[in-house]
Amino acid sequence: MRVGIAGGGVAGTMLAWRLLRSVPRIAVDLYTTRSADGDATSASGGLVRGFERTAPECLPAARSLAELRGDPALRTASDYREVGAVYLLPSGAEVTEPLRVLEEVLPGSATLLTGPELTGRYPFRGLPTGVTAVVERHAGYLSPAGLRAAVLGWLTDRGATVRRLPVTTVGPGPALRLADGTTAGYDAVVLAAGAWTPALLAASGLPTGGMRVKQIQYTVYEGRPARLGAFVWEDTGMWGRPAGDAGFLLGLPSDRWDVDPSCPRPDAALAERVAEEARRLLGHPPAAHCPHRTTASSDCYHDPPGLELREAGPGVFTFTGGSGGAAKTVVAASRVAAAALVR
Ligand SMILES: Cc1cc2nc3c(=O)[nH]c(=O)nc-3n(C[C@H](O)[C@H](O)[C@H](O)COP(=O)(O)OP(=O)(O)OC[C@H]3O[C@@H](n4cnc5c(N)ncnc54)[C@H](O)[C@@H]3O)c2cc1C
Repeated sequence: MRVGIAGGGVAGTMLAWRLLRSVPRIAVDLYTTRSADGDATSASGGLVRGFERTAPECLPAARSLAELRGDPALRTASDYREVGAVYLLPSGAEVTEPLRVLEEVLPGSATLLTGPELTGRYPFRGLPTGVTAVVERHAGYLSPAGLRAAVLGWLTDRGATVRRLPVTTVGPGPALRLADGTTAGYDAVVLAAGAWTPALLAASGLPTGGMRVKQIQYTVYEGRPARLGAFVWEDTGMWGRPAGDAGFLLGLPSDRWDVDPSCPRPDAALAERVAEEARRLLGHPPAAHCPHRTTASSDCYHDPPGLELREAGPGVFTFTGGSGGAAKTVVAASRVAAAALVR
């Protein structure tokens, strides 16, 4: 079986690695752009936790984390930091099923805290009454770029071809037309080009399947709130984690859709809102002029969200749609996608 994959982000590289590990006599060619600067994998905040709001979303996240924690090679390659995670929920949130999944996959990791317990342990302030939180011990953050770099090395060791040559379109066969004017035929081709995937599909005359590109950005401030690892506050969408030796990364959801992934432009108004909201929630950053650095990039969104193998045409698949969350699920999603591709 010959498989051609377009896209050398964490999704494409992990899928290639899974295929090589699980399928005897498979040939995998991975096509990447010359530089990966600014792609989602390079920019990612890398927050990983098992908890998600529904059991089906929870499963791939929890399974990814369980495999990562149990595999010293993956853990080291991704520079996984187990700083814990807090997911703040509005009053009345129903989480019985996701917690059941978490307990099955990562036993003993998650606890449900009430508002008073929460404010006693963490620096949150001004939370509405009735807030609860899922606190996970086995969670934190990792480096998707570090994981990608290590996996690229493992791929070449296992005989995959990695070519720094972009794919221009998908042709019948299926085949990949390449930037040097040549065409390569395969039994299956996979577009794992992240935010560039919808344009690649459209250029190939294939349906985009409702995929869209959305900006994601965060700001890293000097200094950090005490006693806090990774967190999400569902009400505002604010998320954050420690960064480097003494910084803290903070973000809010962007409303910039259909941006050009090749030229990310930080949204200054959003960065200001992040500082205001974080000061209200955490008392950090202490002042708007604290030294900070904003990073903007984008990701491919799909409804429903999730990094999955999806059919786009005869022998043509996409492996994207992580919608801002594929660092959490890529370890498990790539295993599932490799098995589905071979079937
Ligand atoms: C700022 C930011 C913060 C994030 N934070 C988190 C987080 O905290 N937790 C979490 O779980 N997720 C997070 N995510 C999401 C997660 O990082 C992404 O879902 C994931 O990295 C997507 O990986 P990918 O391989 O699909 O895409 P990408 O990393 O974008 O990779 C796609 C690759 O395809 C290449 N390419 C493009 N066109 C072509 C072509 N024609 N031919 C060949 N190659 C091509 C690109 O150069 C790129 O290298 C974040 C994303 C962003 C942008």
